[in-house]
Amino acid sequence: MLELKDVQVFRGNTHVLHGVSMEVGQGEIVALIGANGAGKTTTLRAISGLLPTREGTITYTPGSGQPLETNRMSAESIVASGLCHCPEGRGIFGGLSVIENLHMGAYLRNDTQGIQEDIEKIHAMFPILADRAKQTAGTLSGGEQMMLALGRSLMSCPKLLMLDEPSLGLAPLVVEAIFEMLADINKQGVTVLLVEQNAVMALDLAHRAYVLENGVVTMTGSGAELANDDNVRKAYLGG
Ligand code: ATP
Repeated sequence: MLELKDVQVFRGNTHVLHGVSMEVGQGEIVALIGANGAGKTTTLRAISGLLPTREGTITYTPGSGQPLETNRMSAESIVASGLCHCPEGRGIFGGLSVIENLHMGAYLRNDTQGIQEDIEKIHAMFPILADRAKQTAGTLSGGEQMMLALGRSLMSCPKLLMLDEPSLGLAPLVVEAIFEMLADINKQGVTVLLVEQNAVMALDLAHRAYVLENGVVTMTGSGAELANDDNVRKAYLGG
């Protein structure tokens, strides 16, 4: 569904990605783990067209559609093609209400009835978002904001959902709840590419994973294989 081949990205004069190659298959949860500054966020931003590639190709094939080079597309066309990027920090509109944030996720849709049905589904999935529908989003707790970010992402009907550090700043029990929701979202047919510092949780959830070090993929395997690898354990799982 998504293929990166030898992708090189610069940020200013800094050469950040030195030829990243990776794949995400339809229906998978794939995790990208690595230390601070390894280039994980840069990889997601390149996939969603927010950063230009210097070399290499990024190809996204939604369902049975034609392969698309997302790096050359407008942000709107990318969202319309079913690729949704939930950024680090969640990107919710703090001054808008919870329900307005959900509607923002559907800004490219005009199927009023479908939008209403999806809001009801999201309210069933995250009842707190129904309870807090009129509350200003910026006053929600971190965990509630993450649920809103997931709900808003789902409103765009994603085929591939990319999440950047969903566990950031959340208490362990909240992280567990969010990761269970990600597993449910995946079971409903959404492919997931997950960037995480919390490698223990990410490898537990993911079908497959990639380790990124200094802008290069150094290891790949199933979540379980990487979780049991001595080097990964020492570097990312606390020994
Ligand atoms: P983190 O978990 O800390 O966000 P990361 O793996 O996501 O780490 P990136 O945010 O992709 O890493 O950053 C990769 C490298 O790019 C880092 O060395 C960082 O300093 C550099 N970088 C990030 N943003 C910019 C920028 N706007 N200009 C120049 N260099 C940048």
